Amino acid sequence: MAASASHEFDYDLITIGAGSGGVRASRFAANFGARVAVVELPFATISSDEAGGVGGTCVLRGCVPKKLLVYGSSFAHEFDESKGFGWSYDSPPRHDWKTLMKNKNTELQRLIGVYKSILSSAGVTLVEGRGKILDAHTVQVSGKEKYTAKYILVAVGGRSTVPDIPGKEFVITSDHALDLPARPEKICIVGAGYIALEFASIFNGFGSEVHVFLRGPKVLRGFDDEIRDFVADQMAAKGVKFHFEESPEAVEKCPDGSLLLRTNKSTEKTKCVMFATGRAPNTKNLGLEDIGVRLGKNGAIMVDEYSKSNVDSIWAVGDVTNRTNLTPVALMEGMAFSKTVFGDRPTKPDYNNIPSAVFTQPPIGTVGLTEEQAIKELRNIDVYTSSFRPMKATLSGLSDRTFIKMIVDCATGKVVGVHMCGEDAGEILQGVGIAVKAGLTKDHFDATVGIHPTSAEEIVTMR
Ligand code: NDP
Repeated sequence: MAASASHEFDYDLITIGAGSGGVRASRFAANFGARVAVVELPFATISSDEAGGVGGTCVLRGCVPKKLLVYGSSFAHEFDESKGFGWSYDSPPRHDWKTLMKNKNTELQRLIGVYKSILSSAGVTLVEGRGKILDAHTVQVSGKEKYTAKYILVAVGGRSTVPDIPGKEFVITSDHALDLPARPEKICIVGAGYIALEFASIFNGFGSEVHVFLRGPKVLRGFDDEIRDFVADQMAAKGVKFHFEESPEAVEKCPDGSLLLRTNKSTEKTKCVMFATGRAPNTKNLGLEDIGVRLGKNGAIMVDEYSKSNVDSIWAVGDVTNRTNLTPVALMEGMAFSKTVFGDRPTKPDYNNIPSAVFTQPPIGTVGLTEEQAIKELRNIDVYTSSFRPMKATLSGLSDRTFIKMIVDCATGKVVGVHMCGEDAGEILQGVGIAVKAGLTKDHFDATVGIHPTSAEEIVTMR
């Protein structure tokens, strides 16, 4: 262990926050021989100041419940597809929202148990309550017990933010959208990032009337422009109504209990308005400012490339640092932290070529540079695109299409970006991510034999 176990403190490491980054860092620190405690609030389904839970955002209020709802909602499209393959139903399939919520919540409870047992089998002590940092080595839990540690790791994640407009108290965020008592007949979603579009697809799949309000001309800022247009077209073809260049101005409550969403251009009446307008680090009331930890934009903890703050004993990983806010990145940062501090191997997280997916319907998978970035960063690029009707759509008769783009740096022949929107894009891009990370060239892709008949084979047959 690089940092020798010191009994000057109660623990070698206290981690605040048992989400993806915190659990990963804590259990590997313990594996390296450190005495570790994790402080986390008990689980509550809906976000409040006291909501928490071992597992964190990804497991309890993000990736996992979201993906379960994605699976649930995508059956609707599959029922439609099945007709061209000869299936028929005496009556349309019915969906029971309460069953879905009950089964989803049972699964979340199971996962909380799994994460607790990961911690306990690694020898990590779980302390339930709200952690507050009193000084560079002391954490107080729920205003009562105080514990000391040589290092404190802050891994408290982030939370949804809603712009300060009149009526903001009437809107829901993704936390609530994951746990609604009933499916909304109609929902207005403000924002057009990952969360807004994933929930738009979920509610559209379950049969709600879905309106998405975005202040810009395109969805998913930061993604490849053609993918942005393609996914919006495909979602619109499935029934999602996009309101481009409309900014929210107010939400009003009507006498009949409905809500009126007012934008700069229109009004829409609905019982459910969801804001997915970004997330901010959870650093309020943690005591960080009082002990001089430097915070940046939105309250993010400023850290160096090893995840250390300006206070030597205080480190931070995951969304609370607002670097790349993805679960696998938090895992990477947590692992790098424990190797650096307790494993005698200074390790920097590597942010190059992080693949990711957006679980829209159809989904997006992406890795590397967008065409717009490549034009700015490289002297000469080749761009290969393919837009096709997937085989399943030939018999289903539906309007599904798939789009793939590959960007190649002419100077080296390396594939520097691959972007896909279509069935299984997230699954396919994981493998492609390895090739791009390894720096493989277009010749390597061309020399690879396709798997036939798949959509993925297009990636090795682009000419
Ligand atoms: P994003 O930052 O991705 O998107 C926020 C959206 O809200 C943008 O469309 C933005 O518009 C819009 N917006 C922001 N402020 C306002 C405002 N005042 N009025 C109107 N619109 C506004 O945030 P998300 O909440 O969707 O997601 C948060 C993070 O969570 C993501 O960055 C991602 O890292 C992570 N995530 C990852 C997922 C995955 O990997 N599949 C799934 C879900 C979340 P504009 O573009 O104009 O700024």
